[in-house]
Amino acid sequence: MAPSRPHVLIVGGGIGGLFAANALTAGGIEVSVYEQAPAIGEIGAGVFLTPNSVRHLQRIGLEPAVQKWGARVGRESRYFRHDGAPIAPVQVTDSSGWNATFGMHRADLVDMLANALPAGTVRTGHRCSGFEQDGDAARVSFANGAAAEADVVIAADGIHSELRPYVFPPSSPVFHGSVAYRGLVPHTRVPHWPTDRWQMWLGQGRHFLTFPVRAGQLLNYVGFVPTDEKMKESWSAPGDPNVLRQEFAGWDPRIQELLREVQVTFRWALYDREPLPLWTRDRLSLLGDAAHPMLPHLGQGANQSIEDGMALATILGRADRTTAPLALLAYERLRRERVAQVQRGARENGMRYDSAYSDLGVRDAEITAHAEFRKRLYDYDVVPQAEAAAGALV
Ligand SMILES: Cc1cc2nc3c(=O)[nH]c(=O)nc-3n(C[C@H](O)[C@H](O)[C@H](O)COP(=O)(O)OP(=O)(O)OC[C@H]3O[C@@H](n4cnc5c(N)ncnc54)[C@H](O)[C@@H]3O)c2cc1C
Repeated sequence: MAPSRPHVLIVGGGIGGLFAANALTAGGIEVSVYEQAPAIGEIGAGVFLTPNSVRHLQRIGLEPAVQKWGARVGRESRYFRHDGAPIAPVQVTDSSGWNATFGMHRADLVDMLANALPAGTVRTGHRCSGFEQDGDAARVSFANGAAAEADVVIAADGIHSELRPYVFPPSSPVFHGSVAYRGLVPHTRVPHWPTDRWQMWLGQGRHFLTFPVRAGQLLNYVGFVPTDEKMKESWSAPGDPNVLRQEFAGWDPRIQELLREVQVTFRWALYDREPLPLWTRDRLSLLGDAAHPMLPHLGQGANQSIEDGMALATILGRADRTTAPLALLAYERLRRERVAQVQRGARENGMRYDSAYSDLGVRDAEITAHAEFRKRLYDYDVVPQAEAAAGALV
């Protein structure tokens, strides 16, 4: 009798865990997702999808939903100096000219991914609190007293991952001395604001980003500013809209106009981690922020977690219960260097965005030249390499 396909248990129902569950399900693999929150949900903020992940959403049939809920950003996207002088266009396509760049409300993306799964796949109210494994299976225990067993456990439980220490000794995240204010403004409050573009203003030690979400009904803004305060790693601490307005006083009048309409804002402290040398321990592997939290300066946190999920599903699709641990090692080998490059690239780009240059002409030239890096980032398709890695298993 042929050995059976592995059953996969995912801890964490964020963008990474939910996409991986969809990709595994599409490949005919049985999967369960355990999420600590009482209900699947997200904060009021945007996320930016780029061609290197949209091609995988397309593969599993979700591109129409992205087009419906997202807001495509096009060729009018620009970088500006803080006063509004244009610097360069923003790369919004891959090399073939495919304009698959979308702003999405985080809640819309998470709902879209959760609703696409078979009923009963996601179990909320389950906070993972323990893990053990032997040669035959892996077991997860939860704070509510429940326990579950699987052939493979995927830790998609974010930057504070409970499961990461079962793979690699605990380490502290790196604080980058800046905080992002963010939120959403209804387009009806600034009706002449364009809804077809991603725009960023760059100044000394700070930068400001906007893009549309929810088919252009809402505008997402993020204001990155320096801070001495070593904030708790939170995605959603309340912020003061007046302090935010003060931070960008004297910048392009368009920013002032948008910020006048901000009534509620959240603060998000910027942390990442050094690339991990190991993601896998036998039947347990890390995915998304649990493996590689990164700074947002390439907009790749969610996109890389989607690449992870597609690679994992492609490789596990060729494995059975016995070869599953080898498949996890192949997944890790395929992903680690690509993601480490993006982690490092996000740090470098943050220096450009915060204008850490004595000569702004050099910064502007680098911003212009960065389009080539973006093309390579967006051209990448993880599936052919994952198929080759999976082929080596059999
Ligand atoms: C609220 C929020 C806002 C973000 N904003 C941005 C942004 O603006 N730009 C950017 O680049 N990146 C942002 N990120 C990061 C980006 O979303 C991630 O890089 C990407 O989505 C991959 O995330 P993930 O699914 O691996 O982890 P996360 O999105 O952190 O999801 C982890 C999930 O695991 C759950 N979980 C955690 N611990 C346990 C446990 N013990 N048991 C069960 N479940 C558990 C959490 O509740 C959460 O649902 C944000 C993340 C969050 C959570």
